[in-house]
Amino acid sequence: MNAGVKSALVIGGGFSGMAAAIMLARQGVAVTLVETDPDWQSYGAGISLHGVTFRAFKTLGILDAFADVGAMTDDVDICAGPQDAVVMTLPAPPMVEGALGNGGIMRPALARIMADAVRAAGVTVRLGVGATALDQDGHVTFGDGGSDRYDLVIGADGFKSTVRAALWPEAPKARYIGQAVWRAVMPRPPELRTVTMWMGPRLKAGINAVSATESYLFLTEDRPTNDRVPPETFVPTLKALLGKFPSPLLARVRDGLNADSQIVYRPLENMLLPLPWHKGRVVLIGDAVHATTPHMASGALMGLEDAIVLAEELARATDLDGALGAFATRRWERCRMIVENSARLAEIEVTGGDQKEHADIMRSTMIGIAQPI
Ligand SMILES: Cc1cc2nc3c(=O)[nH]c(=O)nc-3n(C[C@H](O)[C@H](O)[C@H](O)COP(=O)(O)OP(=O)(O)OC[C@H]3O[C@@H](n4cnc5c(N)ncnc54)[C@H](O)[C@@H]3O)c2cc1C
Repeated sequence: MNAGVKSALVIGGGFSGMAAAIMLARQGVAVTLVETDPDWQSYGAGISLHGVTFRAFKTLGILDAFADVGAMTDDVDICAGPQDAVVMTLPAPPMVEGALGNGGIMRPALARIMADAVRAAGVTVRLGVGATALDQDGHVTFGDGGSDRYDLVIGADGFKSTVRAALWPEAPKARYIGQAVWRAVMPRPPELRTVTMWMGPRLKAGINAVSATESYLFLTEDRPTNDRVPPETFVPTLKALLGKFPSPLLARVRDGLNADSQIVYRPLENMLLPLPWHKGRVVLIGDAVHATTPHMASGALMGLEDAIVLAEELARATDLDGALGAFATRRWERCRMIVENSARLAEIEVTGGDQKEHADIMRSTMIGIAQPI
């Protein structure tokens, strides 16, 4: 049925846009995906995933491909002290058969898996082409001078969305939350049982496996102002931050850091657009509409679920406006919870706040995420 949608344009080839393209093409919609990056690259950091993300992977048909190259683990261990004693374990039950409750993968590896699925679904992919202007009736102009009209336009063009800027000029501005995150790629430590985290003085560190042999480090740091950090200072700065933890495992990680560690530094910002998330034939999904900080490692998950729910609502509705409204209504509370709870976790971390509240929010958010979509 697809609410009368025969043609759809997906603007943006990140995880959200790729998921939408796969889901709609499988429903028989003629889907075109445009992506400004001619090489369709994803930057080289690890990404953490949950059992719920694997549930979405199964719907998208990419769980087996993920299992071949990514890593699956189970609970989250929180460690402390000079012996790396496990002081708390946050349970992460599996959500689908064939998967565990946690995991990780390198972003470029996941992007490749999804790009293969996009092409296999018969999507027309146009790389190096950006959408530059559009209207609510589905007319879109591209950077190469061309233009076309589509029954449905999906703005999946990320945090700095052109689509949002064009049609939602009233949208709230991105907010810097006073915290930044460091990430680095390293060999998988043999003693790493599962996702492991350490709480430090206004700092939080964690290690997650991304394959059978590799892992990635993440470390959040309070930074009241969003100043530029020169790349040549990355190694010594990250080493100094790791030196603030008494952990022997983090000390070994620190000693192993060097110029090849693929260190990425990222100031953290968030943005949540109030409903409505559609205007006419144009709908926003993913970071374009709800960009979260990574405290629950769920931003990509939310974008994948948006795509799944959007496809479901289009399939069952008879009119487009009803389908797009039903989509956003189903997504709002879940996405709001992720953005706002993640922001509260950041606040507790940068103010040295109550650790029990921190653990309670993580636990209740995990329970919330595990609910059906
Ligand atoms: C530091 C950090 C760590 C994170 N860690 C995790 C994690 O561990 N787990 C997790 O689930 N999530 C995590 N996230 C969140 C996750 O990365 C994002 O939610 C997710 O990548 C958003 O995907 P997206 O496709 O919506 O947007 P994007 O990834 O931003 O993709 C948008 C795409 O649109 C393209 N584009 C932009 N403008 C145009 C245009 N005009 N025309 C055509 N193409 C265009 C861009 O080139 C880009 O490819 C993290 C986020 C941050 C900031």
